[in-house]
Amino acid sequence: MQTNFSIAQLEDPDIAAANDILRKCVHCGFCTATCPTYVTLGDELDSPRGRIYQIKDMLEEDKPASPKLVKHIDRCLSCLSCMTTCPSGVHYMHLVDIARARIHETYERPFLDKWLRKVLAFILPKPQLFRLSLVGAWLGAPFLKGLPGPIGAMFRMAPKTIPKPSPWDAPQSIPAEQSLEGKPRKGRVALMTGCAQQVLQPQINEATIRLLTRMGIEVVVADGAGCCGALVHHMGDTETSHHQAAANINAWTSEAEGEGIDAIIINASGCGTTVKDYGFMFRTDPAMAEKAEKVSAMTKDITEYLSEIGLPDDLPEKDLTVAYHSACSMQHGQKITGLPKDLLTKAGFKVVSPAEGHLCCGSAGTYNLLQPELADKLKARKVKNIEATKPDLIAGGNIGCIQQIAGGTEIPVVHTVELLDWATGGPLPKGLKN
Ligand code: SF4
Ligand code: SF4
Repeated sequence: MQTNFSIAQLEDPDIAAANDILRKCVHCGFCTATCPTYVTLGDELDSPRGRIYQIKDMLEEDKPASPKLVKHIDRCLSCLSCMTTCPSGVHYMHLVDIARARIHETYERPFLDKWLRKVLAFILPKPQLFRLSLVGAWLGAPFLKGLPGPIGAMFRMAPKTIPKPSPWDAPQSIPAEQSLEGKPRKGRVALMTGCAQQVLQPQINEATIRLLTRMGIEVVVADGAGCCGALVHHMGDTETSHHQAAANINAWTSEAEGEGIDAIIINASGCGTTVKDYGFMFRTDPAMAEKAEKVSAMTKDITEYLSEIGLPDDLPEKDLTVAYHSACSMQHGQKITGLPKDLLTKAGFKVVSPAEGHLCCGSAGTYNLLQPELADKLKARKVKNIEATKPDLIAGGNIGCIQQIAGGTEIPVVHTVELLDWATGGPLPKGLKN
């Protein structure tokens, strides 16, 4: 695609990055066929190619974001299905991030939309506050869940039970089981315990820690690490997302330069995609660029790390069929497709892959709260495809998808790592208990 940025415009590193991305696009439109919003709405403006044109126009003309552009960019899930499909290597993720930052800087959102985003950005990354707000949402749900739009969606999504905080989410080192028996540990990793996940399903981090320590790996929850920054990053609030990301980078660098770590383990693929992009986010920050690059290079999804160290051989067969849901951030964001299924198969489960696996479930961070109608349509389509495989249970590697899909089906939905923990000697996953 031809671009017409001035030399002065190209001095801005974000415009220079956008220019490189735009020039790769050859208008072929292959990406439209796999874009969930285009598939659902059939409007070119809600396709990747349509969004690319709108972003190009805003950036080239140096215009503030218009209400029309904001409508179509807000509808984008950042699922990155278009990046998997694109034959020209267009980095849509970075382009839409640049567009969202421009929207954040130049567009005055209507009062309710602005307020809602501020509340979500303030509460969700803080586990204690989020837990408290869930109690409020649970109390208000009987009266307010019928409201249309995002407010009603927030109350409808309030969980029926709110788990107690897990002691394992606090900063600490958890020794490998074998080193407790006097044998040397096999490795040492930092686990990102995140924000919303530890409130909604603390058993996921617990299963991860049990599994890793059982396999001879010491796990450290680094002091100062917290939310990865993705929630606000996708709202265009670069300043806050960089602040949250910098805290993680400093916390993990301290561990790496102290006792040492072999990897940074992430068990929520949405967060993993963002942490693996810290190197790009901080590319123009002389104080942080090198550290950020190192952190991104050390970051692994839990299934990548488990595939490297290997599960024990001869795990007994389980007479259970698992429908594996591949989160967009896993398959499109991190290009991890076969590893989780291979691990589940090795752990004794029969694994099936539902049709239209490339299409998003509609969760996408805060998308299901901010765009509830579209998110509900995508959830219904996803659940229909999963239920068609007649599984005993559903597994996924991202908390957002797990919550979203569980809201549309009676079939239990668990994290992949809970099943691997169970198969190697851990307890029955909470979601499978009746
Ligand atoms: S990120 Fe997903 S929703 Fe957004 S344009 Fe690409 S395919 Fe469509
Ligand atoms: S598939 Fe890639 S090159 Fe083709 S229109 Fe989409 S983004 Fe552009």
